[in-house]
Amino acid sequence: MGRKPHVIVVPYPAQGHVAPLMKLAYNLADHGIKVTFVNTESIHVKLMSAMSEKFKEGIPISLVSVPEGLDGEDTRAFLERAPSSMPLLLQNLIENINESNIDDQVTHVIADVTAEWALEAAKKMGIELAAFVPCGVATLAFVLHAHRLTEAGIIDDYGVPMKDEPISLSNSIPAWKKNELAWSFPGNPESEKFLFLNSVLTATENVKISDWLLVNSFYELEPSACDLIPNILPIGPLFASDHLGTFAGNFCAEDSTCLNWLDQQPPRSVIYAGFGSTRACDQQQFNELALGLEMVGQPFLWVVRSNFTNGIVEFPDGFLERVEKHGKIVEWAPQEKALAHPSTACFFSHCGWNSILEGISQGVPFLCWPYFADQFHNRNYMCETWKIGLELIPDENGIVTRHEIKTKLEKLLSDKDIEANSLKLKEMAGKSTSEGGSSFNNLTSFIEQMKQQDV
Ligand code: UDP
Repeated sequence: MGRKPHVIVVPYPAQGHVAPLMKLAYNLADHGIKVTFVNTESIHVKLMSAMSEKFKEGIPISLVSVPEGLDGEDTRAFLERAPSSMPLLLQNLIENINESNIDDQVTHVIADVTAEWALEAAKKMGIELAAFVPCGVATLAFVLHAHRLTEAGIIDDYGVPMKDEPISLSNSIPAWKKNELAWSFPGNPESEKFLFLNSVLTATENVKISDWLLVNSFYELEPSACDLIPNILPIGPLFASDHLGTFAGNFCAEDSTCLNWLDQQPPRSVIYAGFGSTRACDQQQFNELALGLEMVGQPFLWVVRSNFTNGIVEFPDGFLERVEKHGKIVEWAPQEKALAHPSTACFFSHCGWNSILEGISQGVPFLCWPYFADQFHNRNYMCETWKIGLELIPDENGIVTRHEIKTKLEKLLSDKDIEANSLKLKEMAGKSTSEGGSSFNNLTSFIEQMKQQDV
């Protein structure tokens, strides 16, 4: 008899990266694999404070942290410091685990594809390694082509496109326009360069050194993109295992009162508006958003994080009183449950990859309002390829007006083709994760390989 695998899971420290890896970690634990989930200290503190005491007792994985020595979520500072400090911190953690219990040795590391510190430490220690991709396969394919695009003079050494023409990888994947690249950060060219040099190029190296390449997507959703990366293992859509009643991957406590509120709304009537963990807007855009939602006249559930506007969140005059009966506003929703609720009709979204998979899994159509990075291409996928969404067009000042929001939401809610396509994708997603489906088989084979290697 061999030892049971003991997997160290290391996310990149951001909500959209921690959540899917946490779902994978639960899944592995359900298959009898021991999992230690390693966050940076500032993220660990957030997760623990968002979790109830009762939940902490029943959690099936170990949650630990390494002190990255930074306050809050200063992404840039973290990325600058991580390569020098994180590999050693992680190596020490793994050595401590191995020394403290001979039967509990670390056998595998699964790390976010951008967490090169974890991949580097694992490689150095000779531990089997899986890179995990939390975005779509098309985005990864584009990132893996970045070197070639530079060599061909299509983008420069900092990822800036040299020409205006869209860049195409395949006829069946939407081409990338100039401001839609994976490292796009509109209005902030310095951040674009930084992301390109520090995340995109390192991801390429990380893919090369990993023994497996897992992705939270499913083959039938992105067949052409998957065919561009022969060793890719799509295992999604990953979903939160529900046996503890809540989810451990949130940085903010979920406001479950919205589920009771949803219970009281008519079937397929509610617009769910949620823009992920980082999307923000200025006060003018915020007002247009609020008034657009109000003008549709249908019930809406709107997630307004305290940092959603660039200052203190201020609703338009009289808005909260006027929408009291048909609008519900929360700081953080149990999003997957809200999307699964029979009252939910559509998803007004920033097009983050996790949100997309969560919406697809529930067959809801999308109103697309991307903000940065892969979100533009995700929108194109939804509107042009899968035809499950509509896009918002900003006016000449870059504002998405209340009228545009009202018009598109009404169009979306009455579009039978989009509804049918959304339900078809839901069925495909369900099949892929059910016994015998492509993602089910990929995950099962990955787990089996881990177990066999250790016997
Ligand atoms: N999320 C949530 N409640 C909210 C808003 C977001 O649980 O009110 C979760 C959502 O379900 C998803 C993640 O936060 O799993 C956001 O990831 P995504 O890739 O959609 O966007 P990001 O935050 O990375 O921009």
